[in-house]
Amino acid sequence: MYNVVEYLENSCKKYSDKIAVIEENKKITYEELRNKSQVVGTFIGSKIFNEPIIIFMDKGIDALISFLGCAYAGCFYTLINPELPSVRIEHIKSTINSKLVITDNENENLAKTYFKDLEVKNINELKKEKINLDILNKSSLNHIDIDPLYVNFTSGSTGVPKGVVISHKSVIDFIDEFTKIFKFNKNDIIANQAPFDFDVSVKDIYSSLKVGATLLIVPKKYFSNPSLLLDYLCDNKVTTMTWAVSALCLITTFHGLDYKVPKSIKKILFSGEVMPLKHLNMWMNKLPKTTFVNVYGPTEITCNCLYHIVDRKREYKDKLPVGVPFKNERVFLLNENNEIITNKDEVGEICVSGTCVGLGYYNNESVTQEHFTKNPNNTYYRETIYRTGDLGYYNNLGEMMFNGRKDFQIKYLGHRIELEEIEKSMMDIDEVNRGCVIFDEEKSKLYGFYIGNIDKKDLSIKLKETLPVYMVPTKLINLDEFPLTKNGKIDRKKLMEVYK
Ligand code: AMP
Repeated sequence: MYNVVEYLENSCKKYSDKIAVIEENKKITYEELRNKSQVVGTFIGSKIFNEPIIIFMDKGIDALISFLGCAYAGCFYTLINPELPSVRIEHIKSTINSKLVITDNENENLAKTYFKDLEVKNINELKKEKINLDILNKSSLNHIDIDPLYVNFTSGSTGVPKGVVISHKSVIDFIDEFTKIFKFNKNDIIANQAPFDFDVSVKDIYSSLKVGATLLIVPKKYFSNPSLLLDYLCDNKVTTMTWAVSALCLITTFHGLDYKVPKSIKKILFSGEVMPLKHLNMWMNKLPKTTFVNVYGPTEITCNCLYHIVDRKREYKDKLPVGVPFKNERVFLLNENNEIITNKDEVGEICVSGTCVGLGYYNNESVTQEHFTKNPNNTYYRETIYRTGDLGYYNNLGEMMFNGRKDFQIKYLGHRIELEEIEKSMMDIDEVNRGCVIFDEEKSKLYGFYIGNIDKKDLSIKLKETLPVYMVPTKLINLDEFPLTKNGKIDRKKLMEVYK
């Protein structure tokens, strides 16, 4: 296989009339999905090849048709959430440097203001065009499997989001194994929680297409109403959830499972953060036959590289292991001297090698060089590894345990955030001299300390102009000076102790 559209083609041959995707009141069969994706692919392929395309809309059937249209044309997509602040959209736009934007009715006007210098096409207009197999065949002949499929932007410590580039080959390598281990099949109804600019959604989309399952897109609005969310999962007889830890905990925090239990669920895979055992137990007690799996990995290595199937008979002391590698992925620990760690309990940086390793950060060679490095223990040829910045150690059973971060990257409400990016945005405001952002894990709260001549309300408003709402600190604290360590660095510990 060279291109993910082959998943769609194969399933279409077997299950052409089967429902491929459901989005609230809309449905699309495998055949319709293939045809519409080919129409979009024809339009794109008649113009460009192996170039980035901005998809400017919320998740849904139309976004999926656009993604697959890009793949048919041998191009790659980056979904920009229209709700992002304008400065962030500008950053992504200038990094990705795309010529074409695909949008929908709802976002067309906004797209035309943000991207007035680019070609903006409404998906509903595109869908009316015709398939030209000559164009699609030409794109297919020119395509190779290391061409990118998508670029996903994540928070960047330099203040500009980083675009992780992932190839078809990496996705195919991962999805083939992922669907095999966890026995995804054509009878599955896969409830998609993640937004389409998060790579958790990659697992939903391509697993479903590969096995000929039905992808059920759960609209964002349901996540602010757990009972509606549970009604939706139950009514649609969902069998599979590959969700962020924060989304599963949202249901248990509001005691959603006391209202209704989605009994049809056979497997729940979760990732993104440490799963609190208290919440996991609430899920497991209500679903005694369901398989639960902890999966781990950063976007840069294509979804996940480690997994641990929860053993109901085992007593987990304080946390679950992140487990063992997927096939064809080498996951290892390096100590500060770049030596491989094999002893149990010794902490090191989690590093990954394999087809899964992404192609780097788009249009950002310097940051790529920092994280996608040469394997320091292989001096004979260039073996690229990804240094995750995550710390880990092996337990008694040789399983990997997650042990926090090396740097100031955090997970907050399911979002990956580099605290330096918030600090940079604070300091870009003229009235702010210095800024320091701290995350209180216990309270799950972001604190923004600053020295400057601006009141908290105005600072919050200004921050919202450049940062997504979830990155704006819930508490802003104006100080005359910051406590310093002996080395003259900001004493973060003291800041928290004194002002918490
Ligand atoms: P993202 O690129 O948004 O998927 O975020 C990846 C980061 O989330 C990893 O580098 C880890 O810090 C964290 N993470 C992902 N999965 C897990 C997990 N199962 N347990 C603990 N932390 C996780």
